[in-house]
Amino acid sequence: MDAEQLREYGHKMVDFIADYYKTIENFPVLSQVEPGYLRNLLPDSAPNQPDSFQHVLDGEVAQLILEFIRLHIQAKILPGVTHWQSPNYFAYYPSNSSVAGFVGEMLSAGLNIVGFSWITSPAATELEMIVLDWLAKMLKLPEDFLSAGQGGGVIQGTASEAVLVVLLAARDKVLRRVGKDALEKLVVYASDQTHSSLQKACQIAGIHPENCRLLKATSSTNYALSPEFLSETISQDLTIGLIPFFLCATVGTTSSTAVDPLLSLGKIAKSNGMWFHVDAAYAGSACVCPEFRHYMDGVEEADSFNMNAHKWFLTNFDCSALWVKDRSALVQALSTNPEFLKNKASQANMVVDYKDWQVPLGRRFRSLKLWMVLRLYGLENLQCYIRNHIKLAKHFENLIAQDPRFEVVTPRIFSLVCFRLLPVRNNESHGNKLNHQLLDAVNSTGSAFISHTVLSGKYILRFAVGAPLTEEKHVNAAWKVLQDKATSLLAESL
Ligand code: PLP
Repeated sequence: MDAEQLREYGHKMVDFIADYYKTIENFPVLSQVEPGYLRNLLPDSAPNQPDSFQHVLDGEVAQLILEFIRLHIQAKILPGVTHWQSPNYFAYYPSNSSVAGFVGEMLSAGLNIVGFSWITSPAATELEMIVLDWLAKMLKLPEDFLSAGQGGGVIQGTASEAVLVVLLAARDKVLRRVGKDALEKLVVYASDQTHSSLQKACQIAGIHPENCRLLKATSSTNYALSPEFLSETISQDLTIGLIPFFLCATVGTTSSTAVDPLLSLGKIAKSNGMWFHVDAAYAGSACVCPEFRHYMDGVEEADSFNMNAHKWFLTNFDCSALWVKDRSALVQALSTNPEFLKNKASQANMVVDYKDWQVPLGRRFRSLKLWMVLRLYGLENLQCYIRNHIKLAKHFENLIAQDPRFEVVTPRIFSLVCFRLLPVRNNESHGNKLNHQLLDAVNSTGSAFISHTVLSGKYILRFAVGAPLTEEKHVNAAWKVLQDKATSLLAESL
């Protein structure tokens, strides 16, 4: 790494990124390219010589990066980018960036350490332990999740990795008790609204596909898992000799932000000796506000809890915070101790080696960006940030309520509004087609990006507020596009 080249390249790239944010609304928020577009724009193989080798020889490094940005990034890459940071982005769930998160990410890239064991960069391990304790306190997690006791927090790349590692920990824990041959009998429980990452984790962990019980959640519980249904299913499984061992509950499901009743579910898990995991990937951020914290009530029954700071907490991707009450369960499932990694601190059991809390060995210095976000914004600003998005979502909900052609489908809890255009003459199958067409029509304008789900057989539109730059005017503009497109579609379908 040449320090002076870095200075020139780095300044130019930061300028480019700052300009990008300044003009982000000029781009179609959903990329409008066709599949395979980039193959036509790039050569089949990498060049033997750099494009502008002469520039480097001449010391014109800045010129080189400017040309690269113009010829490659602007011309070829940006058209294929969907602008998650656009204020007109309302799809899926948000994936936030911020100045603090961005510069923290830069610093991490600059130091470029690989912090698998404490010794490989003591600051990386220790900062991660400290900031996850801070965040746990902001969320009012029970003390058992703090690093001072038997538990602690760890940053995973994604919520999918988080659920995988705790599932592996739970699996190995139960197999130590009942014997390795019982793998086929192990059963996992969750609602059918649980994120598909649980199913993937079951596949990887060798859980028999039929033993991943995704219990139907209906509109009668606002799509939350029913404790009675869970109890009944567990009893039936026990009578046929199966071994219930893992329950995953969600605070803020992906489709509709349903909140599973943690307290009753946790008690069922405990009385059956099961591991209880709580996935709050999206809604966990809101729980730093006292008025939303009650959605996490019952988390004291959990063995593990996860929230994605990279979703709605101003921390650039990736940063998925996972806490466990018993870190030894993770370590027993995931540790290896090869000769080439042995060192005094690890051998003496004086330190945390995060390689034993995750699937890969190598890991990035992700706590820097979370630390910078927590320090530079502080709890109060983060609470205001969340509240503002929730206010905007309420505003959108009110706009829908004023137009009798639409309905809000599930009660809004956080910043996601699930809604649809009502079917003409109560024809549900036509309603599904109509809403699908409406989604495509809105997204093809490039002026707003929304996504969809299906609830009880109905095709539903999802409007998730949470991009850092979104203001009321963007919500109003998106609503106008929705209304205009609905008017055209309804006229066509008459
Ligand atoms: N859990 C919930 C509730 C989610 O909404 C999502 C993604 O939106 C995930 C898990 C998966 O997140 P990740 O991409 O971090 O694996």
